[in-house]
Amino acid sequence: MDERKQGGTKISGRARVVVIGGGYAGVAAALRIVGKAARRRVPVSVALVNPSPLFVERIRLHELAAGKAPRRIELARLLGARGIELVLGRARRIDAAARAVEVELEGGGNAGAETRRLGYDALVYAPGSGAAQEIVPGGGEHALSVADAASARALRERLRAAPPGGRVVVVGGGLTAIEAAAEIAEAFPALRVALATRGRVGEGLSVGGRAYVGRALRELGVAIREGVRAVAVDASGLAVAPEAGGAAPGDGAAERLAADIVVLAAGFRPAALAERSGLATVAGGRLAVDRWLRAPAHPEIWGAGDAAAVLDGDGAPLRMGCATALPQAAYAADSVVAALAGDAPPPPFRFAFFIQCISLGRRRGLIQRVDPRDRPLDRVITGRLGAWAKELVCRSTIAAIRLEGLRAGGHGSPGEAPRPRGARSLGSDASGERLPSGAAT
Ligand SMILES: Cc1cc2nc3c(=O)[nH]c(=O)nc-3n(C[C@H](O)[C@H](O)[C@H](O)COP(=O)(O)OP(=O)(O)OC[C@H]3O[C@@H](n4cnc5c(N)ncnc54)[C@H](O)[C@@H]3O)c2cc1C
Repeated sequence: MDERKQGGTKISGRARVVVIGGGYAGVAAALRIVGKAARRRVPVSVALVNPSPLFVERIRLHELAAGKAPRRIELARLLGARGIELVLGRARRIDAAARAVEVELEGGGNAGAETRRLGYDALVYAPGSGAAQEIVPGGGEHALSVADAASARALRERLRAAPPGGRVVVVGGGLTAIEAAAEIAEAFPALRVALATRGRVGEGLSVGGRAYVGRALRELGVAIREGVRAVAVDASGLAVAPEAGGAAPGDGAAERLAADIVVLAAGFRPAALAERSGLATVAGGRLAVDRWLRAPAHPEIWGAGDAAAVLDGDGAPLRMGCATALPQAAYAADSVVAALAGDAPPPPFRFAFFIQCISLGRRRGLIQRVDPRDRPLDRVITGRLGAWAKELVCRSTIAAIRLEGLRAGGHGSPGEAPRPRGARSLGSDASGERLPSGAAT
C-alpha cells in the first residue's frame, strides 16, 4: 500500500488536499497541485471551496463599478478536467486538531444551511480579503467600495442613479483609490469626483510617477484633498480632520465634505476564518505563516494570498496583491506536493518586486519600475502605452492561471525568487493601501 508521511501523520492511499478560496491564489494552487502531483505520481484528491461558481477578477472591480461588463469566468471551466472537486460553499471553521474544514454549502435549502465536513492531509488557506469599511465610523452603513463584486455592483448602481453634478468622494491615496477615482471620473464625467487621503496621493511612487498621476487625475477632473483623515461617514458625506490633529466627528476641527457617494478604498480586511478557527494570526487577521508559508503550529496548513501574512526580507507582511498571491500559490502548491511525496522542505519562499501598474481610466496608465523591495525607481511608462501595458498585465493573471491548468510549473521552483516578469509584478502598493489597515485613513 502507498504510505507517506505528512506533518508527522502517515497517509495511506490518496492524500486529501483542501484549498479554501477560489480566487487568484486558491485556483492557481489547486491547479498546480494536481499537475505537479500527477508528474510526481503522488496520488491526491483536491477539493476547492468557494462560495460562488464564478471567478471574480478583483483587479477589475473598479472597472465593474464604472459600468464595464465583467467577463464571465466559470470556476469549473478554469479548473478544467483535472479532477478538482469544486465545493460551492463557505468554509466556516478549520478544525486544525482534527484536520477538517466545516463548510456551509451554498443553496442549503429551507431547513437551514447544509454543511459538509472535509477532512484533509494538506490544507491551502487562500480565502483572500474584502472591504474594510469599519475603519471609518459609519463606513459600513454609508460607504461603498470596490473591494468585492457585490460592493462594486452596488456602487455602479448608485453611480448610474446619481444626478448630474452629484459628488463622489473616494477615500484613500493608494493604488486602488487612485484607480477607482480615475475610472469613475472618466466613465461619469457629469459627476464631481474627489480623492481624500492621508499623506499624499501615490505616496509610494517616484517623483515622476506621482507627478503623472496628479496630472492625469486633474485632467479627468478629480479634485485632490491631501493630508486629511476620514473620521466619519454618513448619508450626506464625509467628515475629515487634519491628519495630525485629534479631531473627532462633531467637534469643530472636523470638516465636512458633502458627498452623494462615499467610496472607501483605503484598505482591505483579510478573511476572518483563521482568527475564527483559533489559528495564529498577525497583521489584522492574516494567517501567520513561516518562511515556508506553513502555519507554524500546523505544518499541514499552507497560506497564500491576501489572507496570509507572508513576510518580506525585513520581516514585514508582503502587501496584498495578485503580484504576491500568484507566486505564493505556486510555492505553496510545490511545497504541498513535496511534503506529500515525503521530500525534504524546499528552500524558504523569496519574492522580488519588479513593477507597479496603475490604470487611470481606460486611456491612461502608469507603469512604475520598483526595486525588488518595492521601492520606486526613477523609471516610468505613462499615457496610452502605460494603459496598454497595465491591460496586458491584468490579462496575464488569468493567462498564468490557465497555464497552470495546462502545464504545472509556470512560477519557478520552491524558494526561487521569481524572475522579473510583468505577469507576476502587477500593481503593487507601496502606499500600503492594499495592506489590511486597522487604522483610519
Ligand atoms: C479594484 C482592485 C484593483 C486591484 N488591482 C490590483 C493590481 O493591479 N495588482 C495587484 O497585484 N493586485 C491588485 N488588487 C488586489 C488583488 O485583487 C488581491 O490581492 C487578490 O485578489 C488576492 O488574491 P487571493 O486569491 O488571495 O484572494 P481573492 O482574490 O480575494 O480570492 C479569495 C476567494 O476566496 C473566497 N472566500 C472567502 N472566504 C471564503 C471562505 N470562508 N470559504 C471559501 N471561500 C472563501 C472568496 O469568495 C474569493 O473567491 C486589486 C484589488 C482591487 C479590489
